[in-house]
Parts: sequence; C-alpha cells; structure tokens
Amino acid sequence: MSYRELAEEANQYSGVLTQIRRELHQIPEFGLQLPKTLARVLESIHGLGEITLSKNITSAVLRIKGGQPGPTVLLRADMDALAVVEDTGLDFASTNGFMHACGHDLHVAMGIGAAHLLATHKDEIKGDVIIWFQPGEEGHGGADVMLAEDMHLVTGQLPIAAYGIHVFSSYQKGVFGSKVGALMAAAGGMTVEFKGAGGHGSMPWLSKDPIAPMSEAISALQTMINKRFSAFDPVVINVGWVKAGDDHTENVIPETASFGATIRTFSEANTAKIREYSTELLNGIAAAHGVSVSIEFHPSTKVLMNDAVAIERVERIIGETFGAERYWTMADPIAGGEDFASVLEAMPGAFIFMGACPPGNDPANASTNHSNRALFDDSDLADGAALLAALALDTLNNV
Ligand SMILES: [Zn+2]
Repeated sequence: MSYRELAEEANQYSGVLTQIRRELHQIPEFGLQLPKTLARVLESIHGLGEITLSKNITSAVLRIKGGQPGPTVLLRADMDALAVVEDTGLDFASTNGFMHACGHDLHVAMGIGAAHLLATHKDEIKGDVIIWFQPGEEGHGGADVMLAEDMHLVTGQLPIAAYGIHVFSSYQKGVFGSKVGALMAAAGGMTVEFKGAGGHGSMPWLSKDPIAPMSEAISALQTMINKRFSAFDPVVINVGWVKAGDDHTENVIPETASFGATIRTFSEANTAKIREYSTELLNGIAAAHGVSVSIEFHPSTKVLMNDAVAIERVERIIGETFGAERYWTMADPIAGGEDFASVLEAMPGAFIFMGACPPGNDPANASTNHSNRALFDDSDLADGAALLAALALDTLNNV
C-alpha cells in the first residue's frame, strides 16, 4: 500500500472526523482534567487496541500492536482548550465559556483518524504504535505528567521516534511546515513585585514609591537583552501586565507595584542566564530606590528540537503522499512554547505545523491561534491523520 492510497483511505473518514471535531469544539475543557473530551475519545477508539489510563489526569494511551514484533513509535494528540470566550459565530461554537482557540480539537480528531488507519493495517506494522491523548498542553505540563507516569513506556521500550502535528489558523490550508533543530521556544515567565512604603502623593520623599523602580525595571529588562545576550541566540521578554495603585486615586503612593512578563529563549543556556541576569538587574534597581523586590520565575517549557532524520522522513512522506509543494522548510523557529518539547527530549522525532486557514480567508490577516475569532478548516483532518499514520508505518517498517 502506498502512502497516497493511505491518504485516500483517510478521506473516507473525513465526515466522521469532522463530526467528532465539531462535537468537541462545543464542549471544550481546560487544564489537566478533561472528562467529557476523554470519554468521547475512548468511545471513538474502542476496540482498536490496548488502552492505558492515567490515575491522576485525564490522559489515555492507545497501543496498536503490529503483526510483527519490532520497536515502538509514539504519536501525540493534545486535547485541551483555553479560557477564551469564543466569538466566531460558528454554528458549532463553544457552549461553555472555554474555547478550542488553539485547534487541539482538530488534533484529537487527527489522532483518532490515525488510530483507525493504523488498526486497519496493523498486520503490515513491524512493531507497535502508541498514541497519546494528552490533556494540559496550554501551560499545564500535561506531557511532563505523562512522561513522569511512564506513559511513553507502555510497550516496555522507549519509542524510537515521536511525532505530533499542530494546526495554525493563519497558515495556508494544507501546507505542512517544519525545520530541523529548534522549532519552538522555551516558554516561561516571571512575576515581579516591588515593595516600598505607602504614603501621601504630595510628599514622595517621606515614603518609598514602588512605581518608579517598577517602570525603570520594565525598560531596563529590554536594554539588558540587547547588552547581555547574543543577537544570534534570540531572547524575548514581554511584560503582559502591570499593577500598582488604584485607578481612582492620584494622591496616594501604594505600598507595592508588580508586573508579569513572558520569557522566550531558544537555548537552555539563555533560560538560565535570563534568570541570573534579571535577578541581578531587579535587585540592583530595587536597592538603588531603597525598596525590596521579590521575583518568581515560572517553570519553562523546553526548546522544541526536531531531529534531522525525522524531518527528512516527514519531508519525503509529505512529498510522496501529497506532493512536494505541500512541504515548507521554515527559515526560523517560532517563539511559541510546546510541552511536546519534553517528549522530543526523551526520544528523537518531529513536530509539524499544518496550515488550517479556511479558504476565502487571507492567512496574512486571519485571526491567529488563541484569538477568540480563530477559525480552523477541518477539511484538513484526513490529511493530518494520514500523515501521522504514514510516519508511524514508515518509521517502523524502514528501521
Ligand atoms: Zn496549541
């Protein structure tokens, strides 16, 4: 069977996968506990193989045993939604105040599609395929929980490769993009609070204003990036919120002033340096103003690193299955974070982006992932499922 034939077979599932995706879209769930989503997944993969459930979170691993013994390949579908109020006007829009604004509902449907394709062809597989249905990708470390629970070792051996797909609402529909090496950033963040002494706004010399050091710190962090980090190993710090005082009160000096910033790096070395240098800088600014500062760094995802051999396979299979024009070698990584990075640290593999901008929308102006207006074209589902299945088959049968 050729991969082109496999993709044609996947097309027969297109209607049912679209229906599953739209059902899930209406009942998005947040974080590590996704009971309704998991129930829908289990119903859809019933009978396809051995299922292992987590005791702590709503994750499932489906094991499809090949007809002949061999190594294991891991495929991953993340399932969680965001705390975003949907404003798409779709007739299958969310009903509960959360939103599948990152397209993980499509990932679930693709994972289910790949499971059916692989189960149909299991006699041709030399080894096992395990498919992860993972909650909590959006900053909850779901992949790390599953690794800690040894959900990658359900066949008794470490998979020789792992693959995952992520859809993008602002990339051209049907085009797959990826690259060797760093594809996504280490994404972390920090919360900073300056503490001074409150007082009367008419006499700032009698109190310790925390707002002045805070505003200095916000711009000093940007300068620090320019002066202490190589331009060839980029770092992003962006302050996303600030809090100080009361917005009806001009004549009071508050006791505290705080802000939160997201931090993106593309190397472990820079993640460590950011912590060291910003701590030094913030303590210095606080000391200069006679106030104190507390800094809390949030855990960071790892840099997502694609393996060269895996990407070669991805490019070849996309060419054979859909045509070479459907693969795009990305010039640069993106600064978004992904917990699949932890999986790709434990084993080689590839993460692949897939354009899902609905036809008629201009990708350049389309609402991006995480927007309350993001739209994802679910006619992509069969191709995504076929690619995942083909990657597993190809990896196991051409070791
Ligand atoms: Zn996502």
